[in-house]
Amino acid sequence: MNPGTVTVNRRTYRSPERPLVVVCVDGCEPEYINQAIAAGRAPFIAALRETGTCLTADCVVPSFTNPNNLSIVTGAPPAVHGICGNYFWDRDAGAEVMMNDPKYLRAGTILAALADAGAKVAVVTAKDKLRALLGHKMAGVCFSAEKAGAATMAVNGIEGVPAMVGMPVPSVYSAELSEFVFAAGVKLMERLSPDVMYLSTTDYVQHKAAPGVGAANDFYAMMDRYLKALDALGAVVVVTADHGMNAKTDAFGRPNIVFLQDILDRAYPIGTTRVILPITDPYVVHHGALGSFATVYLSSPVAAADAAAQIAALPGIDVVLPRSEACARFELPEDRVGDLVIVSERLTVIGTSHSRHDLSGLDAPLRSHGGISEQQVPLIANRVAGALPPGRRWRNFDAFDLALNHLQ
Ligand SMILES: [Zn+2]
Repeated sequence: MNPGTVTVNRRTYRSPERPLVVVCVDGCEPEYINQAIAAGRAPFIAALRETGTCLTADCVVPSFTNPNNLSIVTGAPPAVHGICGNYFWDRDAGAEVMMNDPKYLRAGTILAALADAGAKVAVVTAKDKLRALLGHKMAGVCFSAEKAGAATMAVNGIEGVPAMVGMPVPSVYSAELSEFVFAAGVKLMERLSPDVMYLSTTDYVQHKAAPGVGAANDFYAMMDRYLKALDALGAVVVVTADHGMNAKTDAFGRPNIVFLQDILDRAYPIGTTRVILPITDPYVVHHGALGSFATVYLSSPVAAADAAAQIAALPGIDVVLPRSEACARFELPEDRVGDLVIVSERLTVIGTSHSRHDLSGLDAPLRSHGGISEQQVPLIANRVAGALPPGRRWRNFDAFDLALNHLQ
């Protein structure tokens, strides 16, 4: 593409001079990579100690998938792009509203701006829920592994994906769904030579396996092979994550759950408090819709300060903040957040009512995310960086800034 710059959400990016691949590894706690390196399963990443860049970055809280993927591709926090979870409560409509429709997106993406400037852009996401958001107003290739078999030129800018990748379309609950994303990325780089590619995996493995455990090391060994292939094709590769991942259990492996709606329903009249868990989505089997972040909507006669004090006194609760303070601290859109924001501690998740969570699908001790305890993620590149600003707090949504403005 032509040399120059694009400005998106008040940040300026240089046009890519060589192919760029930004990878969002879903649920990639830094320790996963450490352990894979220590086990000798990630030799390509290990070698980046000498030839690459490794930073630790903070993701957006709530440390959930959609807010962070949208932050990475817009270079901005949810206060700017509007996507602060999978759900919010629409007070006017009196309904829980899913936020995965692009109409809720309030900012343009770096991907779309680069495409408009003449770059060839490709996006591959594991689950289809993110595809429309990531590809919003973007000219180029954009498809999900989940619906790869249904990709068409008209909608996705590509067809015949499974044949190109050489893999059958995997189950949405599988490690192979992420492998399909990486394999598609390598094939696209070989055949289409995109200027910019964004790959986003799923955290199916990370929800089940702790860092260093067999299935986790297998996943990172797989990723390492594909990153090496992308590197060999001449791509600049930047790897970050949407959020970390932690065990949310006691020492016996039993989940630590605060069923917040049940607690509030004992303290206040039914219907005056409404707990919203923004992690809730159509794919809940591996985490039972349990994460470490909740927002609560209150109505008369419940006083926010009284409810906040009661919730803050519960075991396992990290912080309770009124809306304005939470939105200032976590850079969230005020109109899509409840009266209180509650974040639980590292070992604890927040539920609504006991009866609303189906935990029968959990075949391993609960691991999840959403809190401040899952905020630190890797920000790794296969190139060295120029002089980086000292003392800068890196965010995962600085991935394109690092890639396009700082790497040599
Ligand atoms: Zn995620």
